[in-house]
Amino acid sequence: MKYKKRYLVNIRTKIIHDTLNIKPRCKVNMMKQDNALFCDTLQEALEYPNKITPKTSKCPFCFAI
Ligand SMILES: [Zn+2]
Repeated sequence: MKYKKRYLVNIRTKIIHDTLNIKPRCKVNMMKQDNALFCDTLQEALEYPNKITPKTSKCPFCFAI
């Protein structure tokens, strides 16, 4: 998969990935193209699908410190 923007949201699992820090355990290559949403900012990804009831969470692998 080609990363068009830094943050990649799987809209089916609602998991946000940081494409600059992808780990094998993220399994982003298993994600269907139809489920992929790219965001420029983490804020935008965290507010998916909207600010009032965001459904997303950060991937524990690529966001691990
Ligand atoms: Zn990840």
